[in-house]
Amino acid sequence: MSLSIAERLKQLRETYPPVAPATAQRLAEAGAWLVDIREADEIAQGTPVGAHPMGRGFLEMRLEQAGAAAEDTVLLLCASGSRSLLAADQLHQLGYHDVRSVAGGFDGWKDAGLAFETPAMLDADDRARYARQLTLPEIGEAGQTRLRDAKVLLIGAGGLGSPAAMYLAAAGVGRITIVDHDTVDRSNLHRQIIHREATIGQSKARSAMATLAALNPSVEVVPVESRVSEDNAADLVSGQDLVVDGSDNFTARYAINDACVAQRVALVYGAVERFSGQVAVFPAGGQPCYRCLFAEAPPAGSAPTCAEAGVIGAVPGLVGTLQALEAIKLLVGMPETLTARLLTLDAARQRWRTLTLNANPGCPVCAGA
Ligand SMILES: [Zn+2]
Repeated sequence: MSLSIAERLKQLRETYPPVAPATAQRLAEAGAWLVDIREADEIAQGTPVGAHPMGRGFLEMRLEQAGAAAEDTVLLLCASGSRSLLAADQLHQLGYHDVRSVAGGFDGWKDAGLAFETPAMLDADDRARYARQLTLPEIGEAGQTRLRDAKVLLIGAGGLGSPAAMYLAAAGVGRITIVDHDTVDRSNLHRQIIHREATIGQSKARSAMATLAALNPSVEVVPVESRVSEDNAADLVSGQDLVVDGSDNFTARYAINDACVAQRVALVYGAVERFSGQVAVFPAGGQPCYRCLFAEAPPAGSAPTCAEAGVIGAVPGLVGTLQALEAIKLLVGMPETLTARLLTLDAARQRWRTLTLNANPGCPVCAGA
């Protein structure tokens, strides 16, 4: 015969004696995982300071992704201490040895006079807009909040920058600074899909801003109508969480790389030539960097421009989209990115490969950085 919920909870209370909120706080300060398993709308009303808001639905996956080990102490908190007992039992069966429920839940926490905070959660519009990506355990409310709080510098509003900017804005990256000195030309439109017939002759940075504002008005777009060089790269990178490089020249790439290494900011690199493309992530403050991969610029004129070589828009479209994807993965904290790897694609034959990138111990920029 099956037990009623009340009987089951009584049993679980005996198996997993709940800990008092003050004890839970002490354990959390000593390194235990204090996990708030309530729904997002409940957490929006307040959550213990230092708690990990994970919800119940994807608790097991989120706990594992966050790095909790089987031998760690896990303290589960719900509203009143019932749901946390049921969840404790499930985690215990999954192999977590020391799982406990916080007695009285968040009500008990508040009654004990312990510190709580009201997190900056998503509003109803955000929940509707990002519903399909919020469902992914890799994103969720926490990841979406990270995207909203993120500042990304995008170099170039061209063939790579167009799709990158649109996917970053659509995904809800909070602030996107777009640097481009050029103006929109009719010959750009077959690949630089952020621009419109109506913006021919206008600044690319401003044309891109208009498209992004129409796509997602909650994103702040900062247009910078400048050519990237050694003189302004450090200022551009300053204060950014991540840089996506969609530039088409070595001067800009080296200047941005050097500023990213100096300021410990991750760099998502991309390039195309005819049907070939490359994407890589150079880690924040680490090695390798872009100069480890390309120590010196090729002689002037040996690397053809799109105007000289020709290009189909879908090829930079692929590469720019991959750059946006890697940027989003980095921002939400997904573990497997193209960090220190180079993805090369031959779109004419559809051959994709990834190579491991090694730091150059003699690199003039990142060695010893
Ligand atoms: Zn280097």
